[in-house]
Amino acid sequence: MGTSPAADRLAALSAQLPAHTRLLAVSKGHPASSIRALAQAGQRSFGESRLQEATAKQQELADCVDLDWHFIGRLQANKVRPVLKQFSVIHSVDSLTLAERISRIAGEEGLLPSIFLQVKLRPDPNKGGLSVEELEREWPRLQQLPHLRIVGLMTMAPLEVEGAEREALFAECSALAQRLGLAELSMGMSGDWPEAAAAGSTWVRVGSALFGPKL
Ligand SMILES: *Cc1c(COP(=O)(O)O)cnc(C)c1O
Repeated sequence: MGTSPAADRLAALSAQLPAHTRLLAVSKGHPASSIRALAQAGQRSFGESRLQEATAKQQELADCVDLDWHFIGRLQANKVRPVLKQFSVIHSVDSLTLAERISRIAGEEGLLPSIFLQVKLRPDPNKGGLSVEELEREWPRLQQLPHLRIVGLMTMAPLEVEGAEREALFAECSALAQRLGLAELSMGMSGDWPEAAAAGSTWVRVGSALFGPKL
């Protein structure tokens, strides 16, 4: 190995992932050249949280045709159409209104995106997400949206939720997904992906532990 520090970190991280967990390399804040290095080392799925930044990198990487782009940031209504055209998966759908808009526009564009519903299991003013109550109330309508596939739940733990409490939060999210019949879980970042993977996460979203600190 030893081709680049990021490629070495990718190899080490991949070797530790359980069989049920895939790695989303979160490349926000990192240049296209860093993405290219990881793609050459075998990574296919990349996560970005800002459309404008992602678009520039996608253009630069247009020759890497087999990359799989996931949108993980807060999604504004006026960005839904370009996001649907440029990303195959959206991890951050945090309201029925947004899901309805995605379904309508996907229908117009002839697309069938995979989406995660973002849930907020603890109060956190810095993060979006449906409360469990909202999710259960909107679930019948969410399930009827024709032009998207709800594949799972996404969650983030507030900073101050640590240790066993954080593990409990991941386990709650996993139980909620199971209750709704959803197979996928997008949980776990650089600081807590091993706990999330142990709780059944199927996608860990790892940025700094892979690419190093942001520029
Ligand atoms: C930035 C980001 C990540 C990755 O965070 P790291 O701590 O750098 O691994 C994961 N998920 C979301 C939604 C993010 O915005």
